[in-house]
Formats: sequence, C-alpha cells, structure tokens
Amino acid sequence: MANMIKSDKIWMNGEFVAWDDAKVHVLSHVLHYGSSVFEGIRAYHTKNGPAIFRLGEHIERLFQSAKIYKMKPTFTAEQIERACIDTVAVNKLKECYIRPLVYRGYAHVGVNPIGTPIDTMIAAYPWGKYLGDDALTKGVSVKIGTWARMAPNTLPAMAKAGGNYLNSQLLKLEAVEDGYAEAIALDVNGYVSEGSGENMFAVVKGEILTPPFSSSILAGITRASVLKLATDLGYTVRETVMPRELLYVADELFFTGTAVEITPVTSVDHIAVGNGERGPITKAIQDAFFGIVKGELPDRYGWLTSVPQAAAQRA
Ligand code: PMP
Repeated sequence: MANMIKSDKIWMNGEFVAWDDAKVHVLSHVLHYGSSVFEGIRAYHTKNGPAIFRLGEHIERLFQSAKIYKMKPTFTAEQIERACIDTVAVNKLKECYIRPLVYRGYAHVGVNPIGTPIDTMIAAYPWGKYLGDDALTKGVSVKIGTWARMAPNTLPAMAKAGGNYLNSQLLKLEAVEDGYAEAIALDVNGYVSEGSGENMFAVVKGEILTPPFSSSILAGITRASVLKLATDLGYTVRETVMPRELLYVADELFFTGTAVEITPVTSVDHIAVGNGERGPITKAIQDAFFGIVKGELPDRYGWLTSVPQAAAQRA
C-alpha cells in the first residue's frame, strides 16, 4: 500500500498539533496491549462542500466500543463530532477519511489498565479507493481465510477495538500473499462472518442476505445503510446465518464498509460469483448509496453532516 498523504493538523485531546508532532510515548498502554477503540469515517465531496457520512452513528459506535472496554472518554460525543468537523475544515480537505481514536495513554504498562489516561485523537487525510480504482465496477477476488473471526466471549467483535485488528491483519496478509484482494473470515462455528474490514452481503434468488451480529461481525454502519436502502428499493433483506458454500452459489456478493464502500465480490476461492461480473442488484444499491453520499440524490435519511467553511475559522 502507498504511504498516506499527510494533512496539516491532527486534533489531540482538544488541540490541533502539526501532523509531524502528533506523537505518543513508547510506554503508552495502547502500544503494548492494543487498548484503543476507533472509527473510520468518510467525508465526500458534494456541491455544498464536504459532507461527512453518518457522523453521529460513528461517534455513537465509538462510545459503545469505549463502554465495552470501560474507557471513559474525556470529551462528550458532541465535542468529538464537532472536532471531526473542525479537523476536516482546518485541513481544507474536500474529501477524506477521518480517523478518531480513543486510547489508553502513558502512565504505566501494567495489564490492569486502571489509572491510564484516556486520550483522544482525530486525524483527517485524503484516501482513495481501498481495493483499487476498478474494484467498485469490476469487483474483487477473495478467498475464505484460514483464520476464524473471534469466538464469542473471547474478544468482543462488536467493539471496534485496536486489538481486533490483529485478527484482521492475519486475514489480510494471508489474502494478499495468496494473490487475493481480501479474505472472508468464517466464525468459530464455520459460518460466514465478515472480511478483514468489511461486512458481507449475498444476493440469492433475488433476496439480499447478510450475517447477523451473532456471527462475530462488527455492526457496520454501511451495512445498516444498505439494509435500509435495499428495503426502500423494494428488495427483501434478511439477516441470516450463512454457510460457506452459499458464497459459491450466490448470484451476487458484495462487501460493505467505510473503506470499501460497496464493492462487488466476483470470485471466492476461484469460483466465479454468478457470471463473474458485478450484478444488477449490487449496481442498484451502489447507485442509491453513491447518489446520496455525493449529494446527487436527496439526503432523505439525514445521513450527511456538511462541513461549513466557518468551521475552518473556528478550528
Ligand atoms: N467489519 C470490520 C471488521 C470493519 O473493520 C469494518 C470497518 N469499520 C466493517 C465491518 C464495516 O463497518 P462500517 O460500514 O461501519 O465501516
């Protein structure tokens, strides 16, 4: 992967600092034990300026993740939402990825986290198409990973916590080394869970299916958006446990996630999905989704938060 494109400033505990000065101590708890929770959010370019997709829901999930790990952020959800808006504005970004992170900072490196400060940072920077420029139209080839997703009652899959991404890294490394764009993890019972950083949907005989929370998935915000859009487009949608082989016989498959947006999956384990091209239902859902986020269709669900110019002055 290419290195990231720097922007000017990063928000750290309430203040903007220069990108290159946004540092932590090497004995910060988070570095040793993965004790962080975070979000990944996109802001899209629209004719009315940058618009952040489902900011409120992302920050709500951030606070839920923190709650699971008994981390008490020192800022309110409203303050963090405001800071996300300001971080986009101060960096004069038209379109970007926003990364808020709440983490256990520097005090001691005992496994017992009590007494560590709960620090917060927010960065915003340009980011292109996660699985390559063609992925949205041409689709991607994936494999079933040999690593399972976290078993229930081991690491909470519903928390978007730093430590969970060790499992994601194993899956991703395996996929890339084997020449695939991504790996799909099964859950501990062998049912379809999710990709290393995205939720999974299947279209089977006109019905849209996706694994339930009980299949060790993250409760994706794009997933929830697609469930809503697909229902309103008139499709039948169902959250259901999915056996691995359903992926081989599905008519269409697609990933959803902030990074991948809505990306067709055109082969699994070298087996073509349908005719091996993006399917019509995937395309219909993409059109509905991108229409809204790019401001070309009305924001009928109130999903966008615009970044006013004034936020740049305030920040
Ligand atoms: N699953 C995992 C493991 C993820 O990391 C992500 C990305 N946050 C998703 C699913 C998709 O979630 P969202 O649509 O909220 O980005």
